[in-house]
Amino acid sequence: MSRWPIGVFASLDAGLGVKLEVAQELGVPTIQLHAPSRAVRTERHAENFLMRLASMKITLTAVFGGFEGESYADIPTTSRTVGLVPPETRAARVAEVKEIADFAKLLGCPVVALHLGFIPHDAAAGLYREVVDVTRDLCDHCRANGQSLHLETGQETADDLLRFIADVRRDNLFINFDPANMILYGTGNPIQALWKVGPYVRSVHCKDGRWAANPGQEWGQEVPLGHGDVGFETYLRTLAAIGYTGPLTIEREIPQQPERQKAEVGHAVRLLEGLKAKLA
Ligand code: MG
Repeated sequence: MSRWPIGVFASLDAGLGVKLEVAQELGVPTIQLHAPSRAVRTERHAENFLMRLASMKITLTAVFGGFEGESYADIPTTSRTVGLVPPETRAARVAEVKEIADFAKLLGCPVVALHLGFIPHDAAAGLYREVVDVTRDLCDHCRANGQSLHLETGQETADDLLRFIADVRRDNLFINFDPANMILYGTGNPIQALWKVGPYVRSVHCKDGRWAANPGQEWGQEVPLGHGDVGFETYLRTLAAIGYTGPLTIEREIPQQPERQKAEVGHAVRLLEGLKAKLA
């Protein structure tokens, strides 16, 4: 594949992505898929889905894990409910990520990705060690499947994420870089962060956002690509500089407004194609 094939974040029956038909209509060559519900994660569904993808000439580049009970309503709720950090749900969710990884393997997909949740800042804390341990466990499961595990950015600063990856010490642990999340969560300038974590970036999201009045305490605002504070020409130039040539996967997290979502993702495709041509 040539540099930076365009992609969209897609959903079957779970997650905030566009429907597969929308990806086809937009003519994009790649998708990342939000893992479908357990009932759909079967061999038969996998075969079916692969045939649909083949007929659409779409390559699946990553499967994203997500869980029942997660809420991104506000930052404290996100911290309490998202990912593998909350202790009450951790064991069941780790087991589910392994099932999702096995489903991704059925789909021939070499990348599993997820939001770990808010990793504790204090590296000496017991909770931090526990999150390191479950991440190792997941990396080892993925390795046995011939897969990498990508951590979505947002909840951590670039420095905290680098320290965490170093502490996990697994060579199949990488980053799915989402520049808008750095802004929405208030965890740092996304371009500076991208320079820092560049060697670990193996997949990226193209999503835009505006800084909150009080970053880190309240959400910034997700907006259509090109209308926010990311700066997509600088973003692509930085991706080129760090040597990233993989897919540019567009996210627009408004599935409750499907027509608007499709229109704005379509606009993002054209904007990125224009920038790709300019930087070629
Ligand atoms: Mg994202």
